[in-house]
Amino acid sequence: IEERFDAIVVGAGMAGNAAALTMARKGMKVLQLERGEYAGSKNVQGAILYADMLEKLIPEFREDAPLERHLVEQRFWIMDDRSHVGLHYRSEDFNEERANRYTIIRAQFDRWFSSKVREAGATVLCETTVTDLAQDAYGRVIGVRTDRQDGEIHADVVVLAEGVNGLLGTRARLRERPKPNKVALAVKEMHFLPRETIEARFNLSGDEGVVIEAAGTISGGMTGMGFIYANKECISLGIGCLVADFQRTGRTPYELLDHFKRHPSVAPLIEGSEVKEYSAHLIPEGGYKAIPQLYGDGWVVVGDAAQLNNAIHREGSNLAMTSGRIAAEAIFQMKSRRLGMTAENLALYKRMLDRSFVLKDMKKYKDMPRLMHTNSQNFFLTYPQLISKAMQTYLRVDGTPKSEKQKSTLKSFVNARSWIGLFGDAFRFARAWR
Ligand code: FAD
Repeated sequence: IEERFDAIVVGAGMAGNAAALTMARKGMKVLQLERGEYAGSKNVQGAILYADMLEKLIPEFREDAPLERHLVEQRFWIMDDRSHVGLHYRSEDFNEERANRYTIIRAQFDRWFSSKVREAGATVLCETTVTDLAQDAYGRVIGVRTDRQDGEIHADVVVLAEGVNGLLGTRARLRERPKPNKVALAVKEMHFLPRETIEARFNLSGDEGVVIEAAGTISGGMTGMGFIYANKECISLGIGCLVADFQRTGRTPYELLDHFKRHPSVAPLIEGSEVKEYSAHLIPEGGYKAIPQLYGDGWVVVGDAAQLNNAIHREGSNLAMTSGRIAAEAIFQMKSRRLGMTAENLALYKRMLDRSFVLKDMKKYKDMPRLMHTNSQNFFLTYPQLISKAMQTYLRVDGTPKSEKQKSTLKSFVNARSWIGLFGDAFRFARAWR
């Protein structure tokens, strides 16, 4: 390819598609490069789609996007080995025409999203891996090199939307490789069942959907969570923990997944299912403090590649779409004002991101990743066990006076953590959450 582009977008995931679509719609000459056979072929997500962020890009998306179920119910489970304590929220208000959250299957969704990018006029090349960033003698990014025979491709700006393990940025020394205590490794299976079976097991009708987020002894004291999401004809089920914790404990992701699937609260939901897909992927979980430099001379980084992921609220794709869109809008402002794509000018992207929910949310939870990681035994093992035991004591009617039950429950907490430990945990948690 000898022609020059206004922008090259590396990656056709949520962030890359949002950026490419926004710039192409504004009339910019955009080249998008994706290493997968098609957009989405390499991508893994639970997956919950947050409609609001997509609506800002494609307001009419509900007309033809491959959506699975709209969510009417959210369950949070705190689990020990034989039980779960649940907080369930279900509302008829979620049965609205323009639902706020949907389950999706990324392979189908990204393909559809990419078709919109093409329709907007961008050139999308799949099965093309970007191997290096092309830089001039001053270190300014001027384009990319790919595994094709085309040599260098030049553009005014390169949008790095290459996902969590982005090697390009690392190779070009624009950022460090994510450290093991800043990324989680998640494994996921797709369990196929007849539609009616899924609806009966999850108490759903029509396209209603439910998602379950689970934490506790299922991660064996490691920082991590499990999830179970109902799609139309399959259930997505997975679990992820920090890579550093896998290293420390020597446990394997598939062993954890197997354990999760055999839990008495989970097994009946997937009984008789056929597993047709198995995937593994990293999730950036270092939070605000792990965010690298977001822009430089001739480049910006968006989505997971920029570590923009809110692990507390299990949000990633919405931050990816929003950062991709905002980066594209900042780039377009530079172009329309005929300003160079210098670091100084592209700093606008960071300022716009600072004003958005993306960096506000990330900043709010800036201390949470460290707290969870350094206290994983307490938060993911000890407390779930204590809470489960307390619930069981409370619910068993066996002639024990209630005052004795309360005393023994309190004693079990104090014995496990001591008064100082309990107050310390509550204080640290409240401070990190505020
Ligand atoms: P990606 O979607 O990873 O896209 C990066 C793209 O770049 C890929 O297509 C890849 O093939 C391509 N690429 C990489 N390197 C190159 C290269 N050198 N050349 C060309 N192409 C390249 N988020 C939610 O909002 N809701 C959820 O329910 C949810 N669940 C999740 C469950 C799991 C198991 C995982 C792993 C993640 C989950 N996330 C969820 C997070 C979400 O998936 C990510 O935040 C989101 O996909 C990030 O989008 P992205 O475009 O930045 O990266």
